[in-house]
Amino acid sequence: MNTCRSCGAQIRWVRTSKGHRMPLDPEPHPEGNVTPEPATSPAVEPLAVVHAGPVTDRPAWRSHFATCEFAAQHRRRS
Ligand SMILES: [Zn+2]
Repeated sequence: MNTCRSCGAQIRWVRTSKGHRMPLDPEPHPEGNVTPEPATSPAVEPLAVVHAGPVTDRPAWRSHFATCEFAAQHRRRS
């Protein structure tokens, strides 16, 4: 588990199908749209599928970029 350098919240990193790293909130959320795949190795970040809308048939997470109170700083840095 990692922590957000901006707000100190716990996050976990996943990698999207496009190869981008994305931090997720630690807990699933009813409006989450990101579903990580099981990790193939502890050494690599799990792949995650980013859906167009909320996923309701299984646990889904939200990108911490979307929920972080310092999201604007994340966007400026990237
Ligand atoms: Zn944050």
